[in-house]
Amino acid sequence: IYILGIESSCDDTAASVICNGKVLSNVVANQKIHEAYGGVVPELASRAHQQNIVPVVDQALKKANISKNELHAVAFTRGPGLLGSLLVGTSFAKSLAFGLQIPLIEVNHMQAHILAHFIEEEGYNKPPFPFLAMTISGGHTQIVKVSNYFDMDVIGETIDDAVGEAYDKSGKILGLGYPAGPEIDKLAKLGNPKAFKFTKPKVDGLNFSFSGLKTAILYFVQNETKNNPNFIEDNINDICASIQYTIIGILIDKLKIAVKQTGIKHIAIGGGVSANSGIRQALKDGENKFGWTTYVPKFEYTTDNAAMIAIVGYLKYLNNDFSENKITASARLKI
Ligand code: ATP
Ligand code: FE
Repeated sequence: IYILGIESSCDDTAASVICNGKVLSNVVANQKIHEAYGGVVPELASRAHQQNIVPVVDQALKKANISKNELHAVAFTRGPGLLGSLLVGTSFAKSLAFGLQIPLIEVNHMQAHILAHFIEEEGYNKPPFPFLAMTISGGHTQIVKVSNYFDMDVIGETIDDAVGEAYDKSGKILGLGYPAGPEIDKLAKLGNPKAFKFTKPKVDGLNFSFSGLKTAILYFVQNETKNNPNFIEDNINDICASIQYTIIGILIDKLKIAVKQTGIKHIAIGGGVSANSGIRQALKDGENKFGWTTYVPKFEYTTDNAAMIAIVGYLKYLNNDFSENKITASARLKI
């Protein structure tokens, strides 16, 4: 069964072909244009999607070495995301499926970040049901109880910023490029995580809060640069290591509560921030310390990609779960 997946929820235009759950191609066109603005500009994003979508899909088919007539279904991201961006992928997917007379399958982007774990990869152990998924990305921070492929409950989430935003906004304060997550991760490895202390937010239960951290970092940096104008440059590694240490602490604390509350000890992570080396290490360390088992997807399936959309398409295809052609994009789609 050949499924084409199309992803256009934010600033990456992506297409992928999978065959019976195995990835044949996984093409992503990054939109460099947003770097100059220090964040994604929605108008520019949808315009770039329009320019990219045809060549990206074309490349995905070429790399998979199949013709569009061999496809069994087209899966696309219906939401959540930027409406203008989602509309490009949605309209394209609808037209293609209609033209080829094959089923159209809507996919929830946040479910896809989780179900990316079910892509067939040699040597990769898939998480057994039920498991806990921690989705940490640019727009979301959630702990989800996954009882089955399409039986998911959000049991905790951020009440303000997402963890990816915490990385990106801290990076902006420090004068790093956008997105800052990967750079902070890299610099953090060279610094002392306990050099500076940032207080963790007090949020009850399984919810998160990250907006206070960004403000704390802003005041801290402003204060220190009064005494030393080169404070950031002189201490960048230690600052990054301390920020990363604080963020990891917040995430692990909540996971511990979630494991205790649910009794579920299988933890899968997903979303762009799960590429973070410190978080991956802390989860691994938790296997001995807290007795849990962790599942970490391959790097290219953590940040936005279309293979994760295609795998959800495949799972839905097996269930005959198709969408009607009058379907529209939904910016605030929930799990
Ligand atoms: P959502 O999935 O919630 O709609 P998104 O699709 O924009 O949001 P992703 O592409 O999943 O988000 O993730 C992007 C985020 O991941 C950015 O905030 C980026 O800084 C962060 N990120 C990527 N790599 C790393 C890393 N190594 N360490 C920390 N953060 C990282
Ligand atoms: Fe995403």
